[in-house]
Amino acid sequence: MRRRRRYIDHVGYVRVFSPTHPRASRYGYVYEHVLVMEKALGRLVRPGEHIHHRNENKADNRIENLALVSDSGHKREHAGWENIEGQWFKPCSGMLCAGKLLPVTERFFLFRTRKGRRVPLSRCRACQAEAKRRSRKQEKNS
Ligand SMILES: [Zn+2]
Ligand SMILES: [Zn+2]
Repeated sequence: MRRRRRYIDHVGYVRVFSPTHPRASRYGYVYEHVLVMEKALGRLVRPGEHIHHRNENKADNRIENLALVSDSGHKREHAGWENIEGQWFKPCSGMLCAGKLLPVTERFFLFRTRKGRRVPLSRCRACQAEAKRRSRKQEKNS
């Protein structure tokens, strides 16, 4: 097989021939997003660090489309969470907000503990209260 310098793999990631890189595959290829991020950081990407494609296009490796995130941060990004200047925001699924991003704090969300971790409910406090008010009203009318 002729070696290509750069190709898109079957899941949509761009791979670049770079056989001396510590993360090179058996055939000498490295994810292009790793190379782009490492160049911007001036260091290697560490274990436990992930690179998220902001627009979900795995082949769009412009640095402005890439975000270096931790393992848990990566899951959050895929759940629509956004980190804005160090504060996490998440979309509220309630009917008042309809997906509006709110800060993940006690002021906006109730939390419950799941697997030893505190996680916010999917609806914010205001939407939670609104849903309760509506179901009460419905009970009264039936
Ligand atoms: Zn991602
Ligand atoms: Zn809400």
